[in-house]
Amino acid sequence: MMQKQGVIYQGYPSEEELSRIPGVPSDERIKKGPVAFIECAQEIPCNPCEEACPFKAITVGKPITNLPALDETKCTGCGTCIAACPGLAIFVVNGSKEKAEISFPYEYYPLPEKGDEVDCVDREGRVVTGGTVLRIAKSQKYDATAVITVQVPKEYIKIVRGIKRLGRS
Ligand code: SF4
Ligand code: SF4
Repeated sequence: MMQKQGVIYQGYPSEEELSRIPGVPSDERIKKGPVAFIECAQEIPCNPCEEACPFKAITVGKPITNLPALDETKCTGCGTCIAACPGLAIFVVNGSKEKAEISFPYEYYPLPEKGDEVDCVDREGRVVTGGTVLRIAKSQKYDATAVITVQVPKEYIKIVRGIKRLGRS
């Protein structure tokens, strides 16, 4: 177990730990619309997220081992940073609708299709609820990493962080 910058990190952060990570937005912001949810809690030398954000909403600064801090007022929830993160630590969540929308990086094939009903998993890969695929996006720059958006019941907005690999029982 490590404690750095006041964040205890044991592989998968608890909700209480998440609230102390500087890349995690406030509940108030999450309710307003899509926003990045940066679950980066280890002081590693890394900053592609800072470069990737077209709205300068992410700051790592110097030293490069700083945890990325999110300016939730600048973030539009565009999702550009998701595939730019080599640690697969960035998500976009939207708590403004009746159901939650969660966007996450996905590096497996086959990809799901829009409208698919899928098993949604938590940070540890456990299936926690069902969801519906809303979008699949791929950028030319990060073509190995698709960004998938699923719709799930709202209580899972801070829990669902991916889907079960397709074609696996
Ligand atoms: S979602 Fe878009 S605006 Fe928000 S931090 Fe990521 S790249 Fe920047
Ligand atoms: S790119 Fe990902 S792993 Fe690297 S600092 Fe940003 S959030 Fe953390």
